[in-house]
Amino acid sequence: MRFIRDIHAEKQASGKPTISFEFFPFKTPEGEATFFGKTLPALMTARPDYASVTYGAGGSTREKTLEIVERIQNDFGLTTMAHLTCIKHTQAEIGGILDEAARRGIQNILALRGDPPSGEEWAQTEGGFEFASELVEFLRERGGFGIGAAGFPEGHIDCAEGRETDWRHLVGKINCGADFVITQMFFDNADYFRLADYLKGQGVAVPLFPGIIPVANAGQIKKFSAMCGAKLPESFSSRLDELGDDADAVREYGIEYATGQCRELLERGAPGLHFYTLNKSKAVLQILANLGLA
Ligand code: FAD
Repeated sequence: MRFIRDIHAEKQASGKPTISFEFFPFKTPEGEATFFGKTLPALMTARPDYASVTYGAGGSTREKTLEIVERIQNDFGLTTMAHLTCIKHTQAEIGGILDEAARRGIQNILALRGDPPSGEEWAQTEGGFEFASELVEFLRERGGFGIGAAGFPEGHIDCAEGRETDWRHLVGKINCGADFVITQMFFDNADYFRLADYLKGQGVAVPLFPGIIPVANAGQIKKFSAMCGAKLPESFSSRLDELGDDADAVREYGIEYATGQCRELLERGAPGLHFYTLNKSKAVLQILANLGLA
């Protein structure tokens, strides 16, 4: 498998966007069978450039991440990045996970601080890292991995000083050695372009991949956005309210909205698209088809 920075450089040289899909570890054998038997084969028809698999916040799915990444790489030949979080890990444990990742042929890590499980406050583990930048630095010093980091177009929800302070921290994190940044989901492209301009102004040259979520369920997206601080524009939110319980109409609207977002992002220079697939294939495939990219 390859470093994502090299995959992206190649796509960029050919004038094409880098397309990636994010998955989360399934909790049941049925979920696993559906993912490997149907969802992933369907998504592979879009010829993605890479995938990534999330890391549960102190939860039971943590040990699954490396296993799933390895299986996607081995069975589907798709470069896949493992997410890794600082929370509830000592440096020694992180070192052990990285050794295991290397043993499994994993070459890319998304270095994150992580969020505490619901109901718990964030707390640095004794002997662990406080910020994702320290994990980036640890990875860079260790060597052997391509490194991604998270960025927040609206500023990170915990950063009380506001988004520019958070973006300053992001620049620090990139300077510790991140190869690229993937953003949290957002629904107003102006937020993405503001962050992209800020980074450019700071002399940052690494790609900023926009994170796109196709909305399939109004209640779910309102919950996600409240949790992570991504605001829903008034017109978007009221359209979802109008569609109410009509699940098909919400899905169609979600595809239409995300298609419009992606089209403008690519036209105005975004280097690629990172889809939060929620382990589903139809909406993402439809969006890519609408864009002429599937
Ligand atoms: P950091 O970069 O450490 O930032 C955390 C906070 O600390 C921010 O408010 C920042 O402004 C502040 N900060 C940073 N550096 C400093 C400093 N030097 N001094 C003072 N303040 C500072 N979570 C999971 O649990 N598992 C996942 O798999 C996962 N995948 C994700 C994928 C993407 C693409 C994104 C965008 C997020 C993901 N998350 C995941 C969520 C992420 O872990 C949380 O949003 C977390 O709260 C912040 O992580 P971070 O890596 O950006 O942290």
